[in-house]
Amino acid sequence: MTAKPAAAAARATVYGYPRQGRNRELKKAVEGYWKGRVTADALRETAAELRRSAWRELAGAGVHEVPTGDFSYYDHVLDTSVMVGAVPPRHRAAVDADALDGYFAMARGTQDVAPLEMTKWFDTNYHYLVPELGPDTVFTADSAKQVTELEEALALGLAARPVLVGPVTYLLLAKPAPGVAADFEPLTLLDRLLPVYAEVVADLRAAGAEWVQLDEPALVQDRTPAELNAATRAYRDLGALTDRPKLLVASYFDRLGDALPVLAKAPVEGLALDFTDAAAANLDALAAVGGLPGKRLVAGVVNGRNIWINNLETSLSTLGTLLGLADRVDVAASCSLLHVPIDAAAERDIDPQILRWLAFARQKTAEIVTLARGLAQGTSAITAELAANRADLASRANSALTHDTAVRARVAAITDADGRRSQPYAQRTAAQRAHLRLPLLPTTTIGSFPQTAELRAARADLRAGRIDDAGYEQRIESEIRDVLAFQEQAGIDVLVHGEPERNDMVQYFAEQLTGYLATRHGWVQSYGTRYVRPPVLAGDISRPEPMTVRWTAYANSLTERPVKGMLTGPVTMLAWSFVRDDQPLGDTARQVALALRDEVNDLEAAGTSVIQVDEPALRETLPLRATDHAAYLAWATESFRLTTSGVRPETQIHTHMCYAEFGDIVQAIDDLDADVISLEAARSHMQVARELAAHGYPREAGPGVYDIHSPRVPDADEAAALLRKGLHAIPAERLWVNPDCGLKTRGWPETRASLENLVTAARTVRNEL
Ligand code: GLN
Ligand code: ZN
Repeated sequence: MTAKPAAAAARATVYGYPRQGRNRELKKAVEGYWKGRVTADALRETAAELRRSAWRELAGAGVHEVPTGDFSYYDHVLDTSVMVGAVPPRHRAAVDADALDGYFAMARGTQDVAPLEMTKWFDTNYHYLVPELGPDTVFTADSAKQVTELEEALALGLAARPVLVGPVTYLLLAKPAPGVAADFEPLTLLDRLLPVYAEVVADLRAAGAEWVQLDEPALVQDRTPAELNAATRAYRDLGALTDRPKLLVASYFDRLGDALPVLAKAPVEGLALDFTDAAAANLDALAAVGGLPGKRLVAGVVNGRNIWINNLETSLSTLGTLLGLADRVDVAASCSLLHVPIDAAAERDIDPQILRWLAFARQKTAEIVTLARGLAQGTSAITAELAANRADLASRANSALTHDTAVRARVAAITDADGRRSQPYAQRTAAQRAHLRLPLLPTTTIGSFPQTAELRAARADLRAGRIDDAGYEQRIESEIRDVLAFQEQAGIDVLVHGEPERNDMVQYFAEQLTGYLATRHGWVQSYGTRYVRPPVLAGDISRPEPMTVRWTAYANSLTERPVKGMLTGPVTMLAWSFVRDDQPLGDTARQVALALRDEVNDLEAAGTSVIQVDEPALRETLPLRATDHAAYLAWATESFRLTTSGVRPETQIHTHMCYAEFGDIVQAIDDLDADVISLEAARSHMQVARELAAHGYPREAGPGVYDIHSPRVPDADEAAALLRKGLHAIPAERLWVNPDCGLKTRGWPETRASLENLVTAARTVRNEL
């Protein structure tokens, strides 16, 4: 490929960088501040130093234009609420008393006031704080954070570009404030919000910004004509400002679709688009609107949310095509690098052969710089990088880890029958009734019991070699005995072993499956100061030996009552891991499903009559665009059925979900063909039970009657009242009694009291039938 002259100016940039620091310094400083061990000044200094070191790292790697304002103590959407003055009235006093403490009050609540609600940032595992707006909201500009951070970067002598959440996305992410009519549409506040954005970008211009980036990822979702109109208006008005910086409107996570012509026509100077596989349609769509004559195009060709090396040749060819479609083409990651860990080179335990395939934020930055150089100077300027990249990709494609012939043969041999129980639900439910002989309104829990300090200490002791495997297993068995004894004494009908051996519901399985990698330092922000280390689905997946049977069988040996086996389902395993990019997600899901199927069958063979396969993430990985839902739900439900269909009719399959509204996926939930589902419902007063009923859901269900997210103990009357509500939607023959979710984050005292009350409630309501 030969670079055209227009490419000579190609620059490398990113939209954001991990905030936490190499050793999660930010987490330590913020949590230290909350505990009173770190002063506000010390926290500010740590934060400023982390920003400086991220910029130096980016600039040192060859990035031409660094992002500013992407840093956050907690969340960038909350920062945007502060920037536009959208502080909820209940937090006003705290914010006025002390801006920093007020900020954390909005994020986390205080003794007296609730925090803002938190929800997922598009289809990532990052969570943002939902703006609360209403007809009385008055916006006022507070550009201090943005201006300060820009000035910090400029002071280092760097070209810097402030990054803001765009006004349309901000409003589309908001919800009606408490007390405001539920049908209030925050987008109606656009005309009030735009002058505030105008003020902020003017302040940034005055502080030296040549460009300002406005992120509008909400435009990659299905949008109504009215919403697209709002986008048109927003950028017409902002574009019409005099004395403003150049505006770069960024989109990511998917294709722009109908919003592409809107933005292409807008009087702004640049667009940033995602050109990774998931958004490949952007390329043709851009050509179809005649490109972006006179505009800057920032091309997100390096995937910002997976951890795999880029195919540099493919990206260069995309970039080459794009050269003809815009005035100037720059190279970037598809989205902020917030969603990937910092540095693959920190992973000392990963086989160096495999490490070559991994790219975290630092490696992705290097790829972006290489691509920009290749684009500007021609491929001859990056010959060595291209050769190394080709070799790394080939070693991945030809590796026995990514191509296990036994696994592939097994997947290829899957038949329809493998994904179908031997009897339909209506028939096997009778067999289960006869086999399990449970009372009406049977009681159970979702799986985990409190993860106590002793359990965490036992795991730490094992890792540090202070106890051996046998010593560890003794501690786990002793915990299982306690958990079983409590449940029997409380009178619960279907028992669990309590999951004391699990550090995490995905990682525990990832560590035992071949083809799955765990990282040592691969922390990614989930929300606030919470970081997770998603495991990596790196190769073909197989199960060398049973993973949970030992513990479930032990629990079974201690009681006459049924003990529920407990597994994490294939969709959730994928959702909370980094997935492969070299095969369709459905293929990876099928491999995981077959490994889990063996576990399900082994549990049954060991005498387990009830097996729960958790799929809390089924709803959250639903694609952003409705046209993509059916294909996702097809492989998602198929992999669940593949996991669970190898058992006898009298073995009862449960599933569990939480965190979401389920109204739009009831059909998919039914397609799982599980016998029983437990769902989060206590806070919404059994709303999901009504949704299931409205859709004619025919199976057994346990809408939660105990909100496990709070230490509060529901009394028996309260749980009974919820149960009676449940009975309005689901007949007694099909209604279960259980908490909303697992109890691992709870303490023992409230767990004991709450479950005793739950059993009392079930008995009371049974007597009313
Ligand atoms: N079985 C798991 C537990 O009880 C389910 C957790 C979840 O749904 N997130 O902890
Ligand atoms: Zn749950």
